[in-house]
Amino acid sequence: MKALEKSHPAEGLWMTRAPVPEIGPEDVLIRIRKTGICGTDIHIWNWDDWAAATVPVPMITGHEFAGEIVEVGRQVSGLQIGQRCSGEGHLIETDSRQSRAGKFHLDPGTRGIGVNEQGAFAEYLRLPAFNVVPLPDDIPDEIGAILDPLGNAVHTALSFDLLGEDVLITGAGPIGIMAAAVARHAGARNVVITDINADRLSLAEHVVPSVRPVDVTHEDLNDVISELGLQQGFDVGLEMSGNQSALDQMVEALVMGGKIALLGIPPGKSPVDWSRIVFKAITLKGVYGREMFETWYKMIAMLQNGLDVSRVITHQFDVDDFAQGFAAMKSGSSGKVVLNWRR
Ligand code: NAD
Ligand code: ZN
Repeated sequence: MKALEKSHPAEGLWMTRAPVPEIGPEDVLIRIRKTGICGTDIHIWNWDDWAAATVPVPMITGHEFAGEIVEVGRQVSGLQIGQRCSGEGHLIETDSRQSRAGKFHLDPGTRGIGVNEQGAFAEYLRLPAFNVVPLPDDIPDEIGAILDPLGNAVHTALSFDLLGEDVLITGAGPIGIMAAAVARHAGARNVVITDINADRLSLAEHVVPSVRPVDVTHEDLNDVISELGLQQGFDVGLEMSGNQSALDQMVEALVMGGKIALLGIPPGKSPVDWSRIVFKAITLKGVYGREMFETWYKMIAMLQNGLDVSRVITHQFDVDDFAQGFAAMKSGSSGKVVLNWRR
């Protein structure tokens, strides 16, 4: 089969031929239709320090996918050949305390497909049946291929009650923009999204017309707080940039007793003004991945009830043109980039 692989420890990814994976009794084999390119895949392409320390080679990359089941392990029940699906790319063990408490997304033994295990940028993917999420007919393949990052947005956005709240999102990357759509859908009063990249802010407005974009290189959040008539600031912050100054601005722009969910990954250790957090009585929550499988359940329900993130997909390429797809992602101005594995 065709597979997009990190074949050796250097910059780039290479289209190779790999054997179709053999499945175990509790697995399914998925024929991939579409995949999304993630920031993680860019780290792996660039072969930065994180990738070099984390990813063994050769490794088929990719973890955002939609496809159809073409083979079912003999102990699998409830899944049929022909079922369209996406799936959770975090593979977990079931013997940790967290898993045994039903908190599968907190299992410390989590391994990622496309990072620690062979991934989804291939014609076929082996996946434990446990990780499969069937796709209803009204969710198209390209949306199926971005459910993983939509899940990050949903899990983060729904960390705190948003109904009637004023929400600040820092970072208008694809995940921040999808979080803005989710916050709106969940009944937030005002949704403000910041970035330093004008293209990203235009995309945010294109995807979520009711969002207030703020270019923090030109505009002061205090002015936006006055313009919107907020008494002190925002109730809830969703940090989706990984940028130190964005977090600092968020802490300043929050009300006393405000809440922050942190998804963005800072490049290294970064200083935090802890006394501001203490005296403003701010609640901080770190977010990793998605809840298994409550986030999947909720996001599919929202998509079926009017949540529309389709415009966050700005590019689709045939997989043979994968280099163009990665170039679009690396431009820093794209939304989600989807690769088509089947014509
Ligand atoms: P992205 O890199 O496409 O978007 C980040 C955005 O933040 C960019 O548009 C950038 O211009 C903007 N930004 C930079 N400095 C800023 C500042 N000072 N103020 C406001 N915005 C600023 O990333 P993405 O794919 O949308 O993902 C969002 C973040 O979530 C990334 O940090 C990513 O690594 C992280 N992430 C975490 C998890 C997890 O499980 N915790 C999963 C997926 C992604
Ligand atoms: Zn991803």
